[in-house]
Amino acid sequence: MTPIIISAALVGSQPTKEMNPAVPYSPKEIANSAIEAHAAGAAIVHVHVREPETGKATSALDLFRETVDRIRAACPVLVNLTTSGYNLAGQDTARRLEVLGLCPDICSLDAGTFNLGEKPFLNTPDWARKAARRMLAADIKPELEVFDVGHIDQANALVREGLVAAPPWYQLCMGIKWGIPATIDNLLFMHRQLPPDAVWSVLGVGRHQLEMTTVAPLMGGHVRVGLEDNLYHARGVLAESNAQLVTRAVRILRLLNLEPATVAEAAAILGLPGRSRLPVD
Ligand code: MG
Repeated sequence: MTPIIISAALVGSQPTKEMNPAVPYSPKEIANSAIEAHAAGAAIVHVHVREPETGKATSALDLFRETVDRIRAACPVLVNLTTSGYNLAGQDTARRLEVLGLCPDICSLDAGTFNLGEKPFLNTPDWARKAARRMLAADIKPELEVFDVGHIDQANALVREGLVAAPPWYQLCMGIKWGIPATIDNLLFMHRQLPPDAVWSVLGVGRHQLEMTTVAPLMGGHVRVGLEDNLYHARGVLAESNAQLVTRAVRILRLLNLEPATVAEAAAILGLPGRSRLPVD
């Protein structure tokens, strides 16, 4: 049985402490949340950074650097840095890719333009190709984030063009407003569009986090949980931490006779070439 990779998406660019006081802002808070999530069973942490005082979304490289340094000093969890650049004017390609210089294990690579809330989230084919080429050259695994069915075509084209090292790693992002709704029917349909050798994970927004991350492992998929996608642990009850959401995912896996992947197992599943430079748990 293949172990299931749990990614913890710690903070994102949207949630605030007003929505849930457990949302981390500063590099220290984000790193501590990563360390706790790893201890609870996450093999990957997906990292955005925020202005420490205001919580405003930012792409400031020094905040990414401090966060990554703190995580790496404390635990071997695989680090996945966002390249969404959602706060940048025009989502400037060069600035979105600055985080590659921090040598993360994985970077998100958004494929497909759509309306994210009230703003366009621009992920043109040109952006996706440039990002994929840079990640391939740097031995950084792209996490192909797709928000709707057609976006999978754009991601699959990168794979066909040889711009993504095998196996390709997809994150099916379900239930984001104006993206594909998070239903089981849609998940089955999304899954059918993936290449045969794809390794894939799903995230569901809000209450759909529980639904999607329960169904996906039964289909051979991996899961992403965390406060970026969902602020609640139960109806009307806020989550206390990212670790609490990871702990729930581990409990569900074990009820299904599945096991969460260790960092070393996740690195093997994803074929991470640069992982040997890091201690493995
Ligand atoms: Mg993200």
